[in-house]
Amino acid sequence: MPAPDRPVVTRVAPSPTGSMHIGTARVALYNWLYARHTGGTYLLRIEDTDRQRSTEAAVDVILEGLAWLGLEPDAPPVFQFARADRHRAAVAELLAADSAYPCWMTVEELAAERDIARAEGRAIRSPWRDRAPPEGVNLPHVIRFKGPLEGETIVDDLVKGTVRFRNRDLDDLVLLRSDGAPTYNLAVVVDDHDMGITHVIRGDDHLNNTARQSLIYQALGWELPTFAHLPMIHGPDGAKLSKRHGAQAVGEFAEMGYLPEAMRNYLARLGWGHGDDELFTDAQAIAWFDVKDVVKAPARLDWNKLAHVNNHYLRQADDNRLADLVTASLKKAGTSLAENGRARLLAVIPHVKEGAKTIVELGELCRFALAERPVTLDAKSAALLTEETRARLSRLAEHLAMEPDWSPPALTASLRSFAAADGVGLGKFGAPLRAVLSGGLPAPDLAGALTTLGRDESLGRIKDALSPAE
Ligand code: GLU
Repeated sequence: MPAPDRPVVTRVAPSPTGSMHIGTARVALYNWLYARHTGGTYLLRIEDTDRQRSTEAAVDVILEGLAWLGLEPDAPPVFQFARADRHRAAVAELLAADSAYPCWMTVEELAAERDIARAEGRAIRSPWRDRAPPEGVNLPHVIRFKGPLEGETIVDDLVKGTVRFRNRDLDDLVLLRSDGAPTYNLAVVVDDHDMGITHVIRGDDHLNNTARQSLIYQALGWELPTFAHLPMIHGPDGAKLSKRHGAQAVGEFAEMGYLPEAMRNYLARLGWGHGDDELFTDAQAIAWFDVKDVVKAPARLDWNKLAHVNNHYLRQADDNRLADLVTASLKKAGTSLAENGRARLLAVIPHVKEGAKTIVELGELCRFALAERPVTLDAKSAALLTEETRARLSRLAEHLAMEPDWSPPALTASLRSFAAADGVGLGKFGAPLRAVLSGGLPAPDLAGALTTLGRDESLGRIKDALSPAE
């Protein structure tokens, strides 16, 4: 365990393999929160040792994902592959200390040993563990860790508690491949040590690795970091989160129109909590977060809760920012804004954002205001225009044209006074009015729709609908 007075250093260490899983986002968030909570440092390491799967584009996905989430590291990222020489130097130390050995096992021998080990209920060992090197030492070989055969390795985990591993179950893992490439478990230990990591907070799919990594730390005479393994994120049905649950990559959540601050709030709450608080600011999360309070059971993604959290932040968000996001979202859906589109968006957003769960939904709620005259009415709306309703809308247009104050309260009053003067209830003209203003697209209440569109556009849309059908 690191000395208690050592400043906390955390890290997130994603492998760049194409997308950034939402579980990685939560790992990043918890490391960030813990570092902020303790006044420590939060770092990023790109684990790009798997050369087949690591691409520059995949690195960008991670960097962009973290930037979008507002979880950029406190220092430039460390790239694992670039440190291969340092990893090899650590293996040389292990060899010198008799904690590692070259192994010339062939593929066939390895398969045979695997069968024997399975039958004996133990991890595989190499016969070269205690054997002198063969003649012609230039033959290809790997370097294996020389792990203890007996006893236990104990991981004191901040979330899981004390977890015990029998050393006989931990195999002599390969540290260097025959081409000299360092393996994952070795590289992680060397990098975490060199980066001064005090707390390794990561997914519990790494718990078995932690036992092996602990042995490597000990063999190198290095201080172990404190470990915290987070339970997985499951889908609403309790199965491991996958594509079929709707989304699993950070980029997908962004594209669906969730806001980064909503994701931070929701992901913080997913597997950790402060009483019953569902909505909290970053500052509150930082003040309250302790990795010890992470719950042991896997978390379940709850789309309704996420929507609720996102709606909360949407309502609070600045309208200019929302207009930017809606513009981008509509563009992706194939709709480019007309010249006055921006002004229209800024007019409509305050009236509809309360009802939107995502930016994509907000975009849909804005569409009626962006429609160009003459607005095409859908079949249901067109059917509302009879001779009688047209005549009434014509009288209503005249009435509204006289309204000096084009604000929701004044328009609400004006609609009421028209109803009284025309001797009908609002029900008689509300639906047709709505139809000609919106074309059948979702729209706010009548006064909201009229205010959003403004006097000229509103009266123009009514007038268009009154011209005799072609
Ligand atoms: N690169 C590993 C992963 O993406 C994480 C390793 C770690 O956090 O130690 O799952």
